Amino acid sequence: MNEKYDNNNIFAKILRGELPCIKVYEDNYTLAFMDIMPQMEGHTLVISKEPAVTIYDLSDEASLACMRTVKLIGIAVEAAMKVPGSTVFQHNGKDAGQTVDHFHFHVMPGSLFRANAMKGHATELADPDDLKDIADRIISCIKSG
Ligand code: 5GP
Repeated sequence: MNEKYDNNNIFAKILRGELPCIKVYEDNYTLAFMDIMPQMEGHTLVISKEPAVTIYDLSDEASLACMRTVKLIGIAVEAAMKVPGSTVFQHNGKDAGQTVDHFHFHVMPGSLFRANAMKGHATELADPDDLKDIADRIISCIKSG
């Protein structure tokens, strides 16, 4: 494990089942769930089960697994939100805007550059019922890998 990794970060607790999440997908290497403070409807996170802070800390095997899951989830998010495009991004380190020190991708429907497309980063909690509805839509659009 990377020595800068803190086992008590929020996503580590979610992976251990100590905190809840609204899950859309899980396999042996990755977990995907709704962002609790979405910057737009459909904002989904894909995290590695491997303990890593940034993409540069991630093993090649975990990187491949995350990319596979991002493809599954990105396609499902586009279909569920009825948007013919999506944006995938991730932050590496506090200076880049990373607020949770466990490696993750953000998957967003459509473009981040439309006027007023996005709310602030990690600022406003969404209604859990709304997140659950959107998660159900995404789950129904996930094609088996
Ligand atoms: P980062 O800033 O590290 O790139 O992204 C972290 C993301 O995690 C933010 O978009 C933030 O809204 C989300 N987040 C923070 N805490 C929680 C939580 O407890 N549960 C979920 N599902 N998302 C969280």
